[in-house]
Amino acid sequence: MIIGVPKEIKEDEKRVSLVPSGVQMLTQSGHRVLVENDAGVGAGFSDEEYRQAGAEIFESGQALWQEAQMIVKVKEPLPGEYQLIQDGQIILTFLHLAAVPQLARVLAEKKAVAVAYETIEGPNRSLPLLEPMSEIAGRMATQIGARLLESTFGGRGVLMGGVPGVPPADVVIIGGGTVGVTATRVAIGMGAQVTILDINSQRLREIYRLFDGRIVSLMSNSYSLERVVQYADLLIGAVLLPGGRAPRLVTEEMVKTMKPGAVIIDVAIDQGGIVETIDRVTTHSSPTYSKHGVLHYAVPNMPGAVPRTATFALTNVTTGFVLELANKGYKAAFAENEMLAAGANVVHGHFVHPAVAEAVNMDY
Ligand code: NAD
Repeated sequence: MIIGVPKEIKEDEKRVSLVPSGVQMLTQSGHRVLVENDAGVGAGFSDEEYRQAGAEIFESGQALWQEAQMIVKVKEPLPGEYQLIQDGQIILTFLHLAAVPQLARVLAEKKAVAVAYETIEGPNRSLPLLEPMSEIAGRMATQIGARLLESTFGGRGVLMGGVPGVPPADVVIIGGGTVGVTATRVAIGMGAQVTILDINSQRLREIYRLFDGRIVSLMSNSYSLERVVQYADLLIGAVLLPGGRAPRLVTEEMVKTMKPGAVIIDVAIDQGGIVETIDRVTTHSSPTYSKHGVLHYAVPNMPGAVPRTATFALTNVTTGFVLELANKGYKAAFAENEMLAAGANVVHGHFVHPAVAEAVNMDY
């Protein structure tokens, strides 16, 4: 198979979808790998390293999209890439179609085989390709939140851990999955007081045990949210309904009750966000805006700012699936591997993932 690795064009996105060792695995199995020039440079990989691993370096991204049978990316195709998608092409990447229905329609029209990293599902409903990115985003959410709380960044001038005689910051985390737990770990490490909410009581029990009771755990509902949002210095959105649009749990009225200079980091923005006052995505270069006196951060590709770590973390878990799709073709790969089949979102014009179909209002 001919596999294409284009350069990411999303603002400040420096990750790359295959590292040289992955290219070598594919070329040694008899596949051709086309890499756009400088595709890996942001993550620290030169064209020469890819060439030595057996890749062909393409000067033109357009020619690469035209020749490849399978495109492997990091982030969803952006409008500038829509016309590059070839009829029947396999596209393997983060898609988050619930947040971009127009891309869902383009993929259907092009009869592409679109496989989303974020819906590839393992045993016990785990999301093994999203997980490493969530581990990174969770750590970053607290780290960035701590910085934004400093007055120079517009925050309320609160130090996460406080000092003897002065209480620590109140960090409220909505969603106790991978992002929520990793954000909690860093927040506790910094000495903050953490409240974590989830709708899954079993999950809350596990988290309580995991942190040895050093956190406050709460059942998530509108009543408890109204109360915790008021006292949060740092509010982190970390909810996921796999494949679906994130629920709007924090209303504008709730945001209005927050303390001036409080900070919201909505990690779930890639699925549309859980905060009503977040009506746009932000970027690493211009990450925040203020509304009702509260600083809002809504960057959908947080791991893009640590491209070296994130590229290794991502490709550690994606490359095996690239190899399987290339070796078997998508039909046999879906038939033989349930995890991969769960990743299929749109296949030859059909929406094959129920939550995605529902979120973008298409027939399943
Ligand atoms: P996860 O599935 O591990 O955890 C989600 C948690 O949300 C689950 O524990 C679930 O029970 C809980 N939940 C569902 N509905 C809830 C509600 N109403 N109130 C409270 N909790 C609720 O998911 P994750 O891997 O932690 O990902 C969380 C979000 O972060 C996803 O939207 C994911 O796409 C996103 N993410 C964003 C970035 C970024 O760069 N912005 C990076 C990685 C992940």
